[in-house]
Amino acid sequence: MLYRSAKGGGKVVNFEQAILAGYAPDGGLYVPESLPEINVSQLNQWRDLSYKKLAFNILSLFIDLNIISSDDLKGLLDESYDTFEHEEVIPFYALKSYKKTYVMELFYGPTLSFKDIGMSFLVNLVNFFLKRNKQHLSAIVATTGDTGPAAAHFIAGKSNLDGWLLYPKDLITESQERQMTTLQYPNIHPVGVYNCPEGGDDLDVVINKLYRNKSFKKKLKLSSVNSLNWGRVMMQTVHYFYGYLKISKHTNHTVNIVVPSGAFGNLCAGGLARKMGLPIKNLIVANNKNACLHRLFNQGIFSKEPIHKTVSSAIDILIPINFWRYLYFCVDKNTKKIKNWMDTFEKTGKIVFDTNTYKAYSKGFLSLSISDEETLTTMKNLYEKEKYLLDPHGGVAMAAAKKLKETLRDDTLICLATAHPAKFPEIIEQIIKNKTLPKEATHPSIEDAKKRCQKSYTCDYTHLYESLINTMETNWELHHKNIK
Ligand SMILES: *Cc1c(COP(=O)(O)O)cnc(C)c1O
Repeated sequence: MLYRSAKGGGKVVNFEQAILAGYAPDGGLYVPESLPEINVSQLNQWRDLSYKKLAFNILSLFIDLNIISSDDLKGLLDESYDTFEHEEVIPFYALKSYKKTYVMELFYGPTLSFKDIGMSFLVNLVNFFLKRNKQHLSAIVATTGDTGPAAAHFIAGKSNLDGWLLYPKDLITESQERQMTTLQYPNIHPVGVYNCPEGGDDLDVVINKLYRNKSFKKKLKLSSVNSLNWGRVMMQTVHYFYGYLKISKHTNHTVNIVVPSGAFGNLCAGGLARKMGLPIKNLIVANNKNACLHRLFNQGIFSKEPIHKTVSSAIDILIPINFWRYLYFCVDKNTKKIKNWMDTFEKTGKIVFDTNTYKAYSKGFLSLSISDEETLTTMKNLYEKEKYLLDPHGGVAMAAAKKLKETLRDDTLICLATAHPAKFPEIIEQIIKNKTLPKEATHPSIEDAKKRCQKSYTCDYTHLYESLINTMETNWELHHKNIK
């Protein structure tokens, strides 16, 4: 299986090159040349597989065995998912107050969010390649709160990697910040950035600029483990297969999946899983007030609007970059079209799609924009009714599910809960009347991080680009110059 830029520039590369590069050289996102197809009998054979075994089968379709042997792939999956707290990796909760509605709990990884699912495997994979090639790589990551902790956790202590984690200071929770700043490893460098005018998206602008600095990029071997990296999206296709196979009884069973969405990395994976043959009926885009995806799926308009600060801060994202990746597969892999749209969007911040394109990409998607009030009320009701506590992102998904109940009639519904409530104690306090946080809103790892000193850089957004160049370069001179 070969990979190319969805924008059409640069060369066709193999899996390893696509993973190590992050972005394609033309600034596009890497996509597989074609999607593997899975038929019903294959699906039925996979029905009883464990998460790891299923992952092995699906990843084998994307990765040539001459790049990673099947033993190595199994080893990487063990290394990645044996750190999860739940032995099933991803458990399900059947709601009592809603019929045929299940919560897919994606937060049993070490940093308590769904980012652990893609990041654990991607970082271990990158490190595996680097070791084999005797290379060092600087991974730079922008985070709205959960990507940074996941990247930091898995990069920590890996000799062939340095992790630079940029986050908008004061726009992530203290728990999330401490997950990065209390790690005592010399290869972890959290950078809290003041005065980001538009939140986390601003950090991507600077990262893009660093990428375009060719000599710097080459010297430090700069790459990314954000969801622009194909490895994250590929890995995230697995939980759609797993969820469908766990919850459906047979392949004619109608299942809808609701996903709290920001950068569209998670849903892009769901859309691709369906294009591969997984019979999900509707994929439901649950946006908060930052409703770029809702505008796309409801009106056919891709536009950048000012940021709103919400209770579901991990999805306060203005530009869902993985939309381009999905769109590529909806327009007959027409890289010219993708390039034109991406260039136009970069210049004008707005695209109104033609009817055919809109129909092609929105097929099988429903979308909603959920207010903070709806999110909090949904969380509160669910907790009062059945003592089940969702985090605010799961809350956005559940609020969307509730609103769509009538449209979806009696269909089975899977709601993705993407973070552990312990990451958002400030929000949980708003819905719990008595002041003590319930046990479900705490976690030993979060408590432990409260009792450690924090170590991080801080920087003002105005000087972020130069500051990163200088700081990263100095670090590299000090620690890696002599590593061959
Ligand atoms: C990142 C994140 C999301 C959104 O995922 P995307 O792939 O960006 O759409 C949802 N919930 C939580 C808790 C997250 O950290």
